[in-house]
Amino acid sequence: MQRDHEIVIVGGGMVGAALAARLGYAGVNVGLVERGDAPAEPRGDFDLRISSLNTRSLAFIEAGGTRIPPDRSCVFRHIEGWNQDGHGHSVFSAADSGLDDFGRFVENKALQHALWRQLERLPGVTLYTRCAPLSTVAGNHARLLELDSGKTLSAALVVGADGAGSRLRELAGIEVSTYDYRQRALITNVETELPQQDVSWQCFTPTGPMAMLPLPGHHASLIWYDRDSTTRAREMLSDDALARAIEAAFPPRLGNILRVTGRASFPIKRQHARRYIGKRLALIGDAAHVVHPLAGQGLNIGLHDADTLAELILARRDAGETRALRRFEIQRRLANQAMLAATDSFHHLFTGARPLRQIGDCGLTLAERLPGAKRMMSRQANGLNPFSRRCR
Ligand SMILES: Cc1cc2nc3c(=O)[nH]c(=O)nc-3n(C[C@H](O)[C@H](O)[C@H](O)COP(=O)(O)OP(=O)(O)OC[C@H]3O[C@@H](n4cnc5c(N)ncnc54)[C@H](O)[C@@H]3O)c2cc1C
Repeated sequence: MQRDHEIVIVGGGMVGAALAARLGYAGVNVGLVERGDAPAEPRGDFDLRISSLNTRSLAFIEAGGTRIPPDRSCVFRHIEGWNQDGHGHSVFSAADSGLDDFGRFVENKALQHALWRQLERLPGVTLYTRCAPLSTVAGNHARLLELDSGKTLSAALVVGADGAGSRLRELAGIEVSTYDYRQRALITNVETELPQQDVSWQCFTPTGPMAMLPLPGHHASLIWYDRDSTTRAREMLSDDALARAIEAAFPPRLGNILRVTGRASFPIKRQHARRYIGKRLALIGDAAHVVHPLAGQGLNIGLHDADTLAELILARRDAGETRALRRFEIQRRLANQAMLAATDSFHHLFTGARPLRQIGDCGLTLAERLPGAKRMMSRQANGLNPFSRRCR
């Protein structure tokens, strides 16, 4: 049967574009539908949205032939966490876990731009910008996707990578369960007196954690979770008052904050689609799940969805085969459910009632003292087998 594309992906964010690059690089005929324009190259001050990419995610992006710009990303080798309300303190080092590093912090816009540049070079990839799906229907050999540009595309498989408010998920009649953490995250980019080291700093407080993430040179990104009203009040502080509040919260060895270069805040929620698949349809990334960002894993698990789906597609003649889609769903739902539960427990252990917080505090101390515990936790967070002794 003649189809326009083997795969059509809706949503050209980091997850959808990474899947398109991986498949296009392997010679698959892919159509990518994005409601916005092709992303522009970021310049000057760093954008506020920064993500950590772990070992498996970086390997997946490289497998699509994309190079992450080194001047807009930063390798990190240590994670130092402490409890502001107790004694728990732990330092995780990549070397202790048999790894060279824990991964990279990367500016979302820089990664998305790098992926799109790669897509533009791939002959098998067609980019449909400024359009969105209107309707979709599946037959035995193809799924049709009607776009608001007037075009209708056919493909063996249509993949929804269109984010938390996925239109494709809605058109497929897939419901979601949601949970509101009643927290808001303040994201602030700062210029620091001292050059940033390769450490990600995490401080746990009874109202929510805060993290200072290194960026290249004298730059860092701060995420500060708190109650909605406290975060909104903090967002209104003058640059100077905000810089002093950040200095007070982090160890003096981080040095002074010279300049606040940007700020914004986001509500924090959890969301999980009841199904990841339909007939000749699959959901990946935030379209399938949204996790609390405190562990920096939302994008990572989205890229792991894309990795698993790409493997199944590349191993088959019919990319939309039901058996393969079921395998994808079983594998990824189990892994994502575990991540949703882990981030949930983390949130409640450090922000719950005092007895719970004491357990969280003991957890940090135990991680520091139990032989092998840190190694297993680090490898798990890196998308690697926690029980293997191999580097990758
Ligand atoms: C404060 C914060 C910090 C975070 N930090 C981290 C971190 O450190 N590490 C990490 O792994 N994750 C992190 N995350 C999570 C991460 O940002 C998301 O998981 C990730 O951006 C999801 O990518 P995505 O491509 O699935 O969705 P999105 O980034 O939402 O992309 C969706 C794309 O689809 C397009 N689109 C939407 N609707 C349509 C439509 N109808 N038709 C066509 N196109 C459409 C959009 O324009 C967009 O390009 C964080 C999240 C937050 C809120």
